[in-house]
Parts: sequence; structure tokens; C-alpha cells
Amino acid sequence: KIKVEKLRKCFGDLEVLRDISTEIHEGEVVVILGPSGSGKSTFLRCLNKLETATAGSIVVDGVDISDKKVNMNKVRENIGMVFQHFNLFNNMDVIHNLMLAPTELKKADKKEAKERAMAMLKRVGLEEKADAYPAQLSGGQKQRVAIARALCMKPDIMLFDEPTSALDPEMVGEVLAVMKQLAADGMTMVIVTHEIGFAREVADRVIFMDGGYIVEEGTPQEVILNPKEARTISFLNKVL
Ligand code: ATP
Ligand code: MG
Repeated sequence: KIKVEKLRKCFGDLEVLRDISTEIHEGEVVVILGPSGSGKSTFLRCLNKLETATAGSIVVDGVDISDKKVNMNKVRENIGMVFQHFNLFNNMDVIHNLMLAPTELKKADKKEAKERAMAMLKRVGLEEKADAYPAQLSGGQKQRVAIARALCMKPDIMLFDEPTSALDPEMVGEVLAVMKQLAADGMTMVIVTHEIGFAREVADRVIFMDGGYIVEEGTPQEVILNPKEARTISFLNKVL
């Protein structure tokens, strides 16, 4: 569980997150919507301290990550992150991409790491690509490998930052299908996406951000089908 209170983030004079308070519960799927520059990526990056909050608190499973004494590597092991651009290691085949973090960071046994890697590849439908190099994969396959790689660390929560926006349209579906299955399996997920249909179908809660604030949050029924705020309505009119 993550509890965010009065989170602020500035880059110099630029105030990107102004006052964000929310909670992510165990097993919950939260989709974050909002226009470009509204602070969505910055918010996600604050959750695993890729960015340091300027003010406010973020408590992850009882651990206040703004505390300088906290071992962030330990906290991050439990938070998987998937980016728009897959960030795979191009000089390694798929199976070694998946085994790297567990063996290096968690000191997992090679054989165990390999078994888990194969199991996670199977989960994303790519068992047959274990020996392929990233350059030999389509965009959709690369992103599914990136998801499998994150899962190899046995995260409690997965953060996704526009996982399908760099993909050709015909590959979006296969990645969303993997994410949908993860949600069905009970994974806690925070997803920044412009895929409104996916949000409607899969999200337990939708957060609409604009200008560094949460403008509106609620069920997809509330926020997407019956938005109350003018800014939400105008954003949805543009993307739907
Ligand atoms: P998009 O939909 O385009 O990805 P976003 O909602 O994810 O947008 P952020 O990437 O969080 O928005 O950026 C919010 C604001 O913060 C933008 O004005 C951006 O230029 C600024 N910003 C982000 N990262 C930095 C940084 N490292 N240094 C300075 N400014 C930054
Ligand atoms: Mg972004």
C-alpha cells in the first residue's frame, strides 16, 4: 500500500506537482489520465524515488521513503517499473535480460532465476523468444519482455508510464492484454496511459491530473463516463 500526502515537486522555479494526496491500495488498479506536462510521469517517478519529493510524504508499506535513512534499493526491489521505451539491454538475449536484476541485486541462484524468467516469459506469451536479442523483437514483444523482466523481481506493485504509446497501433492490444491479465491476477498497478478504453475496462480507480493537481478521481464510471470538472470534460472530449 502506498500513501501519498501533500506531495510537492519542483524543478527549480517550476512547480510540477503542487499538492497531491492519494492512496494506492493492495490489489488496486489505478489509471492516471491527464494532458501532457500535467505531472503524471513525475508523480510515478516520485513513488519509487527516481525523483525526490520537494515536500510532503510518500509511505510505501509503512516505510516513509522521504527518510534519508531508508534503503531505497530494497524498496525499489518491490516496485516494478515499465517505461514507454522498453530500456532492454540490447547486448543480451531475452533470458539474460530477465535474469540480470534477480541475480545481481537479489543474489538469486542462477538456476532459480532462469526458471522464474522462463515462467514470466510464458506469462507474457514469449517462451519461444528466450534466446532472441531485443533487436530481433517487435515493439510489442519488447514491451512484453520488459513487463516479464519487472515481474522477475517479484514486485508488490507495478508502475507503468505510457507503456503502449511508442508502439505501432497493431501491437498495442497484445501489451494491454498482458496488463489486463496481470490486473486479473491481483497485481497492484499504477498506470499512466491515454488508452481510455483500457481504463474504463480495467481500472478500479481513475485519477485525472492537470497542472500538478489531482482534479478529479473516482471509478471509471464517475471520472470517464460522468466527469464533473470542466477540465476533465474538455480533456476527455479531446482524447475520445
Ligand atoms: P507527458 O504526457 O507529456 O508525458 P507528463 O504529465 O508525464 O507529460 P511530466 O513529465 O511529469 O509530465 O512533466 C511535468 C512538467 O515537469 C513538464 O513541464 C516538464 O517539462 C517538467 N519536467 C519534468 N522533468 C523535469 C526535469 N528533470 N527537470 C526540469 N523539468 C522537468
Ligand atoms: Mg509522461
